[in-house]
Amino acid sequence: MIRNAEIIAVGSELLLGQICNSNAQFLSKQLAELGVNVYYHTVVGDNSTRLRDAINTAKQRSNLLIFTGGLGPTKDDLTKETIAEVLGKRLVMDEEAMSNIKAYFEKSQRKMSENNKKQALVLEGSSVLTNDYGMAPGMALSDETHTYMLLPGPPKELQPMFRHYGREFLLEKLGVKEQIVSKVLRFFGIGESQLETDIEDLIDNQTNPTIAPLAGDNEVTLRLTAKHHSIEEANRLIQQSETEILERVGEFFFGYDEDTIYSVVFNKIQQSSFTLSSAESLTGGLFSERMTSFTGASEVIEGAIVSYTNDVKEKVLGVQKQTLEQDGAVSAKSAEEMAQGVKKLLKTDIGISFTGVAGPGTMDNQPVGTVYIGIALPDGNTVVHKLQLAGTREGIKHRSAKYGCHLLLKELFK
Ligand code: ATP
Ligand code: MG
Repeated sequence: MIRNAEIIAVGSELLLGQICNSNAQFLSKQLAELGVNVYYHTVVGDNSTRLRDAINTAKQRSNLLIFTGGLGPTKDDLTKETIAEVLGKRLVMDEEAMSNIKAYFEKSQRKMSENNKKQALVLEGSSVLTNDYGMAPGMALSDETHTYMLLPGPPKELQPMFRHYGREFLLEKLGVKEQIVSKVLRFFGIGESQLETDIEDLIDNQTNPTIAPLAGDNEVTLRLTAKHHSIEEANRLIQQSETEILERVGEFFFGYDEDTIYSVVFNKIQQSSFTLSSAESLTGGLFSERMTSFTGASEVIEGAIVSYTNDVKEKVLGVQKQTLEQDGAVSAKSAEEMAQGVKKLLKTDIGISFTGVAGPGTMDNQPVGTVYIGIALPDGNTVVHKLQLAGTREGIKHRSAKYGCHLLLKELFK
C-alpha cells in the first residue's frame, strides 16, 4: 500500500544551480491529485555512492520512491545501475525499448553507438514505461514494501510518460479505480486573503473534494477536486462544496474553468438580447476592444466613444459644461452623464462609462487610482461606482475594464 512518497532527482546540474528541479514540482502536483502525500524531495548528484545512500535513507521513511534523471546513455547516467545494485536486481535487455532506440537512429539517419544499447536495459521484473518522446524507457516496480518508479530527466519526456503510463501504474497500486473530477470556480473583486478567510473552515476541513486557492491577475480561483469510484458521486461532492462556498462568497463569483470575466458578461448580455455601448476615458477603448473579441460581437456591442478629452465628453457625449467645470472629469456626475450620453447617442439598452486617474500624475486633485464607472441601465436608472485602485497605469486601466464587467454582472444579473 502506498502511503507516502519521496521524489529523488538525480543530477549534478541541479546541485550546481544550473537547472531548477521542475520535475519534482510537476510530480508533486500530480501525486497530490492522486491523493498521495509527498513528504520529501531529495536531490543528489551523479554519484553512485551518494545515490545509494539517498535510496537507503528514502526507503526507511517513504514507500513510494520516484527517481528522475540519469537514465541516458552516458557514463554519468547511473540511476538504474545503482538501484539495481541496492535492490539486488539484474538489468535485462528490453526488446521493445531496443527497437524504439533503433528506430530513433534510423529516423535521424545517425549511426547508433554502442553505449546507446545501455538505454534499453531495464530492471528485471519491472513494468516498462514507454518513452514516446525520447529513447530511454522508464520503469516501475513494486516489492512487498516499496514501489519504485524511474523517469527520464528531460521534462518533455518525463511529463507525458508519467501522464500516460506512470499514473496508471500508481492508480492500480493504490487500488483506486477512482474517478477524479475537478472544477475551477472564478472570483473577481475579492482578494485572495479575504476569500481564504471567508471559507477558512471549509479549507481546513477539506478532504474530498480538496479546495485549492490560487491568485491570478486580479482574480482568485478555487480548484475543487473530488475523487470517487462513481463519477456521479464525485460530481455531487463537488456540487455540494460549490454550494457551500457560494453561500459565503457568491457575490464575487463569476464563472467556471476557462471562463473569463469578459466572456461571462458578453454571453449574459447576448442571451438577454441587450445591446451595449461604452464611453471610455480612462480605459481608452480597452473595454470595447476586449468585448469585441468574441464571435457575434456585433449583436451585443453597438460601438464605443473614446472620450479622452473634456471636449469630446462635452461635444460628443453631451456631458454638461457645468459638470466638467464644477465636479471635474473624474467625478460621479461625469461618469453618470457619460454613461447616459453614450447610451442615448448609440441607442443601446446599456451604456457604461469609465473615467479616472490612471497616473502617474494626479488630476483635479484626485489621487492616482480614483476611478468612476457609470452604468446607464435598460430601465432608465443610472448607477455610479467609485473605486480606489492601486498599481501601475497599465494595471489600473486593465483592472478598471474588468471591474466594469464585474459591476455589469452585479447590476444586471444578480
Ligand atoms: P538524457 O537521456 O537526456 O541524458 P537522463 O534521463 O539521463 O536524460 P539527465 O541526463 O539527468 O536525464 O538530464 C537530462 C536533462 O533533463 C537535463 O539537462 C535537464 O535539462 C533535464 N532535467 C534533469 N533533471 C531535471 C529536473 N529534476 N527538473 C527539470 N529538468 C531536469
Ligand atoms: Mg543523461
